[in-house]
Amino acid sequence: MQITTSLSANPTDDARLSEILANPGFGVNFSDHMFTVEWTPERGWYDARITPYAPITLDPAAAVLHYAQEIFEGMKAYRHDDGSIWAFRPEANAERMKRSSHRLALPVLEVPDFLSAVEELVKVDARWVPDNHGDGEKSLYIRPFMFASESFLGVRPAEHVTFMVITSPAGSYFKGGIKPVTLWLTEEYTRAGRGGMGAAKTGGNYASSLVAQQEATANGCDQVVFLDAQDGRYVEELGGMNLYFVFDDGSIVTPATGTILEGITRSSIIELAGKMGHQVTERKFDIDEWREGVTSGRITEVFACGTAAVVTPVGSLKWADGEVPAPASTDLTMRIRQALVDVQFGRAEDTFGWMRQI
Ligand code: PMP
Repeated sequence: MQITTSLSANPTDDARLSEILANPGFGVNFSDHMFTVEWTPERGWYDARITPYAPITLDPAAAVLHYAQEIFEGMKAYRHDDGSIWAFRPEANAERMKRSSHRLALPVLEVPDFLSAVEELVKVDARWVPDNHGDGEKSLYIRPFMFASESFLGVRPAEHVTFMVITSPAGSYFKGGIKPVTLWLTEEYTRAGRGGMGAAKTGGNYASSLVAQQEATANGCDQVVFLDAQDGRYVEELGGMNLYFVFDDGSIVTPATGTILEGITRSSIIELAGKMGHQVTERKFDIDEWREGVTSGRITEVFACGTAAVVTPVGSLKWADGEVPAPASTDLTMRIRQALVDVQFGRAEDTFGWMRQI
């Protein structure tokens, strides 16, 4: 893919950038440039370009605004102490986007093109990748996304599609020390059905999760837990994170995929925990097993994982007429978290070959 670059005539000045990077928050500030490439059935992908970050113009009839034919990815670039910049398993995000493309009837952007789009943009905006000075967990969040940009109100796969990448500096997820997330079990809403879009990273899944998240917040919880749509008893995932259960014999279980989003963090933990000597099983996980396991002490830890928090301990689980308290321990949770963070920030040897230099 041939990429043309036109640099911003008015990039963010150093003083303002230092202010942003000192306290980046999440998803509020965007780097100076963006990547765009277009697709039509006749031409394939064409006009790949990096341009100054700016609003885009869409026809009011653009299909994405009506039928939500859209997919996205989320990943991070990390600055190591020697100043070099690395991405964590970006090929896995590229592969997941191909799977999402298939489900949403969008064209496939091949892995090497996805990688060059991300890498070229991060290189152009390298000064937006925060420094961590030996500790800290700041990073540059990378958001690739693809949408139906054709102006047409007929319901069919769009014949003009746009893929873009934007980036946004992200602060440490845990600032005042680790705080377990409290969870709300929604018994009313589900996020994915058999044959549906649960395994794809598409906007509609997040739109459908919002009302359940509101319910969680109204009940004083941080995040929502979804159960499967068919039987209403198997644990799937949170609105934006996968789940893990640690048992008193050291074995670990994570809900099997199919209707859940297969996280890159989730699959990394399968490998990492395996190497740490734990037996890791992917299987159906009944909500009663959670309730009873934590109560009896057979489940010693529950944790959630995703690009944003890496790994976070899970505290109490509440539902309409009950609650189970936080599991007894966070020991393995924190060791797994540290091991992943150390690889991402270049503080431990990358024995799995997960990091890719930009
Ligand atoms: N599930 C959902 C619904 C998510 O949005 C995310 C975040 N992408 C995850 C799980 C975790 O995936 P990852 O580890 O790739 O960030």
